[in-house]
Amino acid sequence: METDRSKKPGSNIDSWCGKCKLVLAHTIEAMVGDKPVRVHCNTCKSQHSYKPNPPAARKARASAASDGSTVPPTKVRMSRYQSLLKAKDTAVPKAYSPKDKYETGDVLEHPTFGRGVTTAIKDGTKIEVLFESGSKTLVHGR
Ligand SMILES: [Zn+2]
Repeated sequence: METDRSKKPGSNIDSWCGKCKLVLAHTIEAMVGDKPVRVHCNTCKSQHSYKPNPPAARKARASAASDGSTVPPTKVRMSRYQSLLKAKDTAVPKAYSPKDKYETGDVLEHPTFGRGVTTAIKDGTKIEVLFESGSKTLVHGR
């Protein structure tokens, strides 16, 4: 006769079976103190350690994929260039001429570099212009 709480080798116990993937009746094979450590599955007869609970269900796959998208420097420059140009959407670009005077924000069309936005006036004769290929220093006001 079995009394409650008296587990011993040979008695039945519910355990997780990794083969059956179910909590099933098992037979205790070995115990340490009053804890079953080794059981065999009454269903598939496989021997394994006693696992009172099913393994934790696999957590939804780490949802950290959306973070950490690093933007390459060229993209940053491109987007700055594009947003600058976009802001100047309505501006009709002037053909660049070193004789003209430019103001910050002026959009110009350079024969080599293409369309650019004046980002800084360096001094009376130099401006910094952001082109798609990067920033260039140009002369102006000559
Ligand atoms: Zn089993």
